Amino acid sequence: MQQTILDKAVSSLCPVCLKIVPARIFSEDEKVFMEKRCHEHGDFMELYWSDLRLYEKFHKYGCEG
Ligand SMILES: [Zn+2]
Repeated sequence: MQQTILDKAVSSLCPVCLKIVPARIFSEDEKVFMEKRCHEHGDFMELYWSDLRLYEKFHKYGCEG
């Protein structure tokens, strides 16, 4: 399974302690996932977008503001 990093320096919330933790966004199998890393609670991976093309479309609009 091939992973492509889309954004490697984003911030998110740990689902356990709700502190801001570093996260990265990557695509795998045409889906987009976010992986979070909390010092105390370890790694969490969640589905971010179910469709990679949707993410790219949204991201483009987001940048144009
Ligand atoms: Zn935590």
